[in-house]
Amino acid sequence: MEKMLLKRVDIPNANDIDVALKHGAYGALSAAFGMRPVDVVNEVKRATLRGRGGAGFPTGLKWELCARVPGSLKYLLCNADEGEPGTIKDRFILHQDPHLLIEGMVISGYAIGAERGYIYLRYEYPKAIGILEKAIEQAYAKGYLGKNILGKGVNFDLSVHRGAGAYICGEETALIESLEGKRGQPRIRPPFPASQGAWRKPTVINNVETLSNIPFIIGMGGDAYAKIGAETAPGPKIYGVSGHVNKPGVYELPMGTTLREIIYTHCGGIKGGKKLKAVIPGGASTPILTESHLDVKMDFNSLVAAGSMLGSGAVMVMDETVDMVNVAYVLVRFFAHESCGKCTPCREGTAWLYQVYTRLMHGEGKEGDIDLLLYICETVKGKCFCPLGEGAIQPVLSSIKHFRADYEARIKSGVVSH
Ligand code: SF4
Repeated sequence: MEKMLLKRVDIPNANDIDVALKHGAYGALSAAFGMRPVDVVNEVKRATLRGRGGAGFPTGLKWELCARVPGSLKYLLCNADEGEPGTIKDRFILHQDPHLLIEGMVISGYAIGAERGYIYLRYEYPKAIGILEKAIEQAYAKGYLGKNILGKGVNFDLSVHRGAGAYICGEETALIESLEGKRGQPRIRPPFPASQGAWRKPTVINNVETLSNIPFIIGMGGDAYAKIGAETAPGPKIYGVSGHVNKPGVYELPMGTTLREIIYTHCGGIKGGKKLKAVIPGGASTPILTESHLDVKMDFNSLVAAGSMLGSGAVMVMDETVDMVNVAYVLVRFFAHESCGKCTPCREGTAWLYQVYTRLMHGEGKEGDIDLLLYICETVKGKCFCPLGEGAIQPVLSSIKHFRADYEARIKSGVVSH
């Protein structure tokens, strides 16, 4: 498959609008403006694009729900928070090809009837903030943002909003709260953002990668786009691969490429010729897989069938030397730190898990600790206000399921890790 989403990232200075224009940027705008907004929505529905932020909700349906709500004031928010450990895919678009994202947002705003957009970005991405602000300024200067875009009577204003850097602000309602200047905590749903989102107005929130697909869908048509990659969730997918592979990096491949192909064909296999032990397929909150899952296709449905999730497509690879108790400890520490504290099972459960893992790491594991960890997970499972709590227990449950021997050895030997 020829690169689409990352096709301009290797071109020097492609984040400059003149360079981006020479390589096709903003080419889909006129085509989109030549269609009725409802037809743009239908084209995205035909493409069967699913959100690339983690949940995989059908993008066209999300747009349709918002577009149908009466009222002239609507918002389009781009979730560029990218706070999941291991996730680096959106940063490449933000740094190297911000005009692709801006073009996608102008078209999306037109489709849903929103004339105001925000790119919500985490504080830890200072470089991206500067690049985006410059790109937005350039787009205004060339008439791709602002009033009467391309002389077609379409208005769209866009700005960057910098968050303080909390994982929970990647959850869409917490992101909205943060955008409104409040503490970043999830809202109760319903009402859903499509009817009452930012400032209680109809709002669509899409991830950077999702929005970056839009110009291509308009350019090639939804039917042609739907033929790329996995049947149930077509299109290109950006996989960010880290860990013990020879060539870690960001790869754009058809959705549904197998783990084996990603690790051994594109990433050059495991470093030092070692054996693969474990893979986290989609970021910290997705259940850990093993070598036996190498032929699983990296798409939404195939990964669920294999007992995991696509998440953000952040593939973390671990070789045979890795102790999975260490891995689970690091991830649990992250989730305990990032729990927003709104609901008790997550707030107390993640802290309790962290306490037990800290003991294990200090060589003070006790018989019964594995059962205790499983019991704590049971007190969290299905009882949390938002998906963070559920995600926090996945490294624990999946590491015990597949690598129980690591836990038993740790408890028996009393090895101390630092
Ligand atoms: Fe906050 Fe965790 Fe509850 Fe989500 S599950 S609302 S992050 S305490």
